[in-house]
Amino acid sequence: MTDPTSDVDEGKARECAVCGDPIDGPGHRVITWIEDDSVRTVHVCSPTCEAAYER
Ligand SMILES: [Zn+2]
Repeated sequence: MTDPTSDVDEGKARECAVCGDPIDGPGHRVITWIEDDSVRTVHVCSPTCEAAYER
């Protein structure tokens, strides 16, 4: 099964785009949006960081 969000190197730990903590566990959120005709993807560690992230 292919993960459609796996656009980063496998084995490289993701960091939260807001607080910089390593992302693990169920709080992981993925924010996607369209900008300049391309898909932007950001990973955050929790709903709190998701709300705090400014595009
Ligand atoms: Zn965070």
